[in-house]
Amino acid sequence: MSIWDRVRYVWMNGDFVDWREATVHLSSPVVNMGLGVFEGIRAYWNPRIKQLNVFRLRDHLNRLFDSAKVHRMHVPFSKGDIEKAVVELLSSNNFREDIYIRPIIYRGNLWQEEESIDTGIYAGPRATRLKGVDKGVRCCVSGWRRMSDSILPARVKACGNYLQYHYAMSEALASGFDNTILLTVSGKVSESPGANIFLIRDGVLITPSITSDILEGVTRNTLIRTIREKLDLEVVEREVDRTELYVADEIFFCGTGGGEVTPVISVDNILLGNEEPGEITERVRSLYLSLVLGEVEKYKDWLTPIYEG
Ligand code: PMP
Repeated sequence: MSIWDRVRYVWMNGDFVDWREATVHLSSPVVNMGLGVFEGIRAYWNPRIKQLNVFRLRDHLNRLFDSAKVHRMHVPFSKGDIEKAVVELLSSNNFREDIYIRPIIYRGNLWQEEESIDTGIYAGPRATRLKGVDKGVRCCVSGWRRMSDSILPARVKACGNYLQYHYAMSEALASGFDNTILLTVSGKVSESPGANIFLIRDGVLITPSITSDILEGVTRNTLIRTIREKLDLEVVEREVDRTELYVADEIFFCGTGGGEVTPVISVDNILLGNEEPGEITERVRSLYLSLVLGEVEKYKDWLTPIYEG
């Protein structure tokens, strides 16, 4: 049985449709050219209070609409409409576990008038990795470079951008690594193909600046603020050299989907520390878990509860 067997409804252009009927046409520009923008959002089930909370829904939708704007796509719904649709979609599926949510805005049908834009949202179970013991990942520096803003903007979450994920990850996996780190065209550290990166050197957290051809991650933003405020550690956004990866005390990836907070234990087979997730990385991971579960009063505004009461 697949996890998708537990999903009943998908939201498409304002209506709830059966999961199996949520299809696009073969001729569509999104299939043929990747012409679409999307978001990856998580909702976490808190068993203590029996509530499902979406984490930073409005911030993800801000980025979704920014991505559409860069593509000159007019979204036929407001952010409020999409927010309401996400809440209704999760409750109508009666989800009571950790969920991954994907809104997508795309050119779905070549036969419709020129400007026709479709909007869909699907969601399904995806367990968090934050709770379990994670041994960390072994990475290489990719032979591929992160595309620059003057070629395809990494800043936006465009469907077509993820061809780079495919190239870079398949190269890394074929070489026996778990994940990979992309450099910019000018050789500075950018990000992993699906997550942002933090290095720790002498107790200071360093992350590539937003002009390093990164997706401006919601998790990255969350951590920059809360590491300063709750862990009382220094966080610096700046250009990062490749060799800093080799001399870092700790490295972790961060992102909503697969990564959340994922420790890196080696880069190009050069070990960081002693083959175990570092101490600061572990503190960051448990901080992030408490935030997404809504256990930190100060940041409760980041949560959108699904069920009443
Ligand atoms: N970079 C890339 C290329 C990504 O695909 C993601 C995942 N969306 C991230 C960074 C992290 O972004 P976020 O924290 O908003 O999920």
